[in-house]
Order: sequence, then C-alpha cells, then structure tokens
Amino acid sequence: MRDILLFFLASILSIGLCASELEAAQRQNPKAGAQGKAASSARKAKPAAQKPAAAQKQPPPPVSDADQKTNAVLKQLGLTVQTIMIDAGHGGKDPGAQAFGLTEKNFTLDMARRVGDSLRKKGFTVIFTRSGNNYLSLQERPDAANAKKADLFISIHANANPNPARRGLETYYLSEAKSNDAVTVAARENGVPVQEISDLQFILTDLMLSSKVKESRHLAECAHKGILGSLRKARVSVLDNGVRAAPFYVLVGARMPAILVEFGYISNKDDAANLKRDSYLQKQSDGLAEGILQYKKELAANAPG
Ligand SMILES: [Zn+2]
Repeated sequence: MRDILLFFLASILSIGLCASELEAAQRQNPKAGAQGKAASSARKAKPAAQKPAAAQKQPPPPVSDADQKTNAVLKQLGLTVQTIMIDAGHGGKDPGAQAFGLTEKNFTLDMARRVGDSLRKKGFTVIFTRSGNNYLSLQERPDAANAKKADLFISIHANANPNPARRGLETYYLSEAKSNDAVTVAARENGVPVQEISDLQFILTDLMLSSKVKESRHLAECAHKGILGSLRKARVSVLDNGVRAAPFYVLVGARMPAILVEFGYISNKDDAANLKRDSYLQKQSDGLAEGILQYKKELAANAPG
C-alpha cells in the first residue's frame, strides 16, 4: 500500500509539473501556437484551391492576437492530434489473461501492430511502447508516451472473467469506477486485489483535477463508436458493454488523452473464437482508427476561434 501511495504522489507531482512546463514553454515560445494555426489554416484552405483563380489570389488573412492566444491555448491543452502511442498490454514475464489457447500479451502485440497499420493509413504517426515480447511496468508505459510527446495514448488489452458467460467490448478512461464490473477489470489489469482499487479511488479524486479526464472520455467515446460501427457494418455480432471509467495504473501520469480498450473476453468461448479471426481483428483495428480520426475531426471543428 505504501508503494502505491508513493507512486501516486509521484504521479500527482509529475502531472503538476506538466502544466507548469507547458506554461513555461508557452512563455518562452509564444509564437509556437501561431505557427500551428498557420499550418492549420493552410490545411483548412485546401478545398478552396478548387475554386476559380481569382479566389486563389486573395492573400491569407493575418493571424490576429486573438488567434495566437487561441492556438497557444490549444497547444497547451494538447488539442492537436498527430502522434499516437500504442501500448500493447502486458509482455515478457507478465502474460496477462490466458484462456481458449489465447494469451493476452501475444494478442495485444498482434492487435497493436494492426492498429498501428490502420492509423498510419489515415495519416497518423505511430509509436509503440513495446514491439517485442518484453516486460514494461505499468508506469513505464505512459512515461514513454510523455517522453515522446505523443498526442494520444491507447492501451490495448483483452478481458477475462471467472464467469465464462461474460463477453463484449469495453473502452475505458481514467476516472473513479462507477460499477463493480469496472472495479473488477481495473483490479485484474492493475494486478492488485479489488480492495486496493477502493483505496485508490480516494486518491484519484485529487488526481482527476489535473488529468485530461474530459478529453479522455471523449476519445473513449469516439474510439468505442468507431470499433462498434466497423463491426456492425460488417454484420458481425458484438456485445456493447459501453464506455466506462475506472482507475487503471497504466493510464495514470499520461499527460495526453489516454484510453484503454478491452477488445473482448478471451475467457468467453464466442469472443475468443472471434479474437482468433483475422478479419474480425482487422475490422476492430480499422474501426478504432476511424474513431480516432473522428476524434481529431471533432477537436478541429470545435476548436475555439
Ligand atoms: Zn490486460
């Protein structure tokens, strides 16, 4: 328990530092946001290139002080999405869940590669926490995303439950768990007893003040909808367990919107059979990438200014 408290203290401090560092960076380089806006304006202006030549000759509008401020805020809030850290859950000495001939650490590595390919096809830059069968602690994963300045963090998992009837797709973001089911999943993924999750929830209340809960929830909703949409379009049966909040260690300390996807229960016969099918995995992977692209589009559409 002492280790957990120290860990959270360290995490809280590190997140606190994040905000200060961003503010400091903004003070030192106030033009960074304006440059981002200029690039963004150029992208937005692209469709206009199809218009008559007279329209093309108009000079670009000057970047006002208000625009500069807006973009500095966007940058500070991390509302730009290009580089995505994909985290294949477990690995090395930690196999994760095992059932029906599936081992979670192998599934997540395969799925991470698929998701990476799907995202690259949509123009994103993709990096991985692990690309082989190596062990990483739960804290090292968001740390790697922070070090690489990733814009999003996506942790990939498969679920398991002692009840073999449990099945379905779940997408999580870091917050207080609102159901016993969510507590059970977090306890298993964190490798701790359920009781420790209850203790953790008290500490989490403070932690929530400084993490990107709102953005992570929105990302989780887009990702979940993308996966479901892709499967349903292909007329593949899937049980929708929805977007959920839970205190996952692997999401703590991430300075960017961060989610954890449980792609199905390997402890359920039907889910496990699906999770072995190439076409099913591809549909999920493409759907997740589509959901993330949708998240990016919505951010751009709702950007202030
Ligand atoms: Zn897992």
